[in-house]
Amino acid sequence: MSVEKLRVAKNKWIITYIVFLIVIIIIAIHFAIISLVEENPYASTMIFMLILAAAYISYNLWKTIKVEIPLFKTFMLVKCSSCGYAEIMTPKKGDYVFKTIGPCPKCGGEFTIYSIYREKIKTRSAFSLSLLKTK
Ligand SMILES: [Zn+2]
Repeated sequence: MSVEKLRVAKNKWIITYIVFLIVIIIIAIHFAIISLVEENPYASTMIFMLILAAAYISYNLWKTIKVEIPLFKTFMLVKCSSCGYAEIMTPKKGDYVFKTIGPCPKCGGEFTIYSIYREKIKTRSAFSLSLLKTK
């Protein structure tokens, strides 16, 4: 699963859990009002069940929010074959290892890609931030 799909799935689940939680709270308030107005022995049982359901959904919501989606950035190490001058750059489409990308800025020798790698730059855990970025 790609990072983008993972983020969309995470946000969908967070929204679903929040909607569930709101619905359960509304139903619980409804039963609370019923138990205040009339003597209904089932109202308190229902409220207890709804509190349990709300606790379970809150737990799932918290777990979903805590899911960290790692962000990666790709880098490449470019080195000069004559003087050894090295630089870290962002690769472009079509770049590969041992490709000569031009003259060395120091001596004018062959500037060759030595390695292409990716690094974890940060993890996203803030829900509001990731929600804003998908839109
Ligand atoms: Zn050089």
